Amino acid sequence: MRITVLAGGIGAARFLRGLLAAAPHASITVIGNTADDITLFGLRVCPDLDSVMYTLGGGGNEERGWGRADETARIAAELAAYGAGPSWFTLGDLDFATHIRRTQLLSEGKRLSEVTRALCARWQPGVTLLPMSDDKIETQVKIKSHPERTVASSDPEGELIHFQEWWVRLHASVPAESITPVGADAAAPAPGVLEAISGADFVLFPPSNPVVSIGPILAVPGIRAAVAAKTVVGVSGIIGGAPVRGMADACLAAIGVETSAAAVAAHYGPALLNGWLVDEQDKAALEKAQAGDPALAGIAVRALPLYMRDIPSSAAIAQAAIDLAKELAS
Ligand code: GDP
Ligand code: CA
Repeated sequence: MRITVLAGGIGAARFLRGLLAAAPHASITVIGNTADDITLFGLRVCPDLDSVMYTLGGGGNEERGWGRADETARIAAELAAYGAGPSWFTLGDLDFATHIRRTQLLSEGKRLSEVTRALCARWQPGVTLLPMSDDKIETQVKIKSHPERTVASSDPEGELIHFQEWWVRLHASVPAESITPVGADAAAPAPGVLEAISGADFVLFPPSNPVVSIGPILAVPGIRAAVAAKTVVGVSGIIGGAPVRGMADACLAAIGVETSAAAVAAHYGPALLNGWLVDEQDKAALEKAQAGDPALAGIAVRALPLYMRDIPSSAAIAQAAIDLAKELAS
């Protein structure tokens, strides 16, 4: 069985851990979001690729869902003593080594896909992890005004900031006017990405953020069409009208999509999505919406508990996604 998964960070990593438990013999390719990537202290940081790599490689921080286990922050303290910023993005000492190694390989001229393969040679995540593109794509958020910055007030059009600054520094507290994966139009899928999609038995969307994790992957030219040609089953990251962790509601608001399992399914749409897993508490609402809503026509919905508390609960969700994909593909 060949399965290809589009992936953000935490939601994807937890789902993938369940998928590996549910389908230990499947050949799994993960296409990771790189639009959250950022250069800090001269080092290239790829938060979503690393969340997947560390979690599946057994070195991730369980409670936080990102960064390394048993982490310390001595380097960050030294950098702060030099007055070097930014201070709002946490990088632990062990994590720093990954970014140093990545930057070293990139500066030798290797592409991000090659570098990711080299890093995964150590972590052995049990999946083939591919960045969505080797080209630079950066999610930028347009906000009206930016605290502690004066440019915003003089700019009636608002200001563009890096997604991480909006998300991590401002905690998405300033409403986003728009969220755009800048550079996606001119980017190409990384080597192996389109082949992994077309060669898969089916494609899965984990409960990753639809706007800033799955959205940028689909924005890379060629990927959306390749995915649409396959049987696709998605898992809702919205349960009972709220994201399970994080602030996905702020992202959905920016693109005018309601924070509900039904609205996210309609956002992907029947042209892309064949099956959709929702939590039991969203079943009635979704069926009601589906009954009269052409935006959801043809999307098969199944309801089950969607909280990924541990590996068994994540594996049950992954198994339900596999079962539905097989049913719809036959
Ligand atoms: P990020 O890049 O680290 O923000 O992670 P992702 O984009 O992969 O995933 C974030 C999404 O995962 C959030 O919108 C959450 O709603 C969703 N999520 C996190 N934990 C769970 C869970 O236990 N169950 C479900 N269904 N969704 C979850
Ligand atoms: Ca992310």
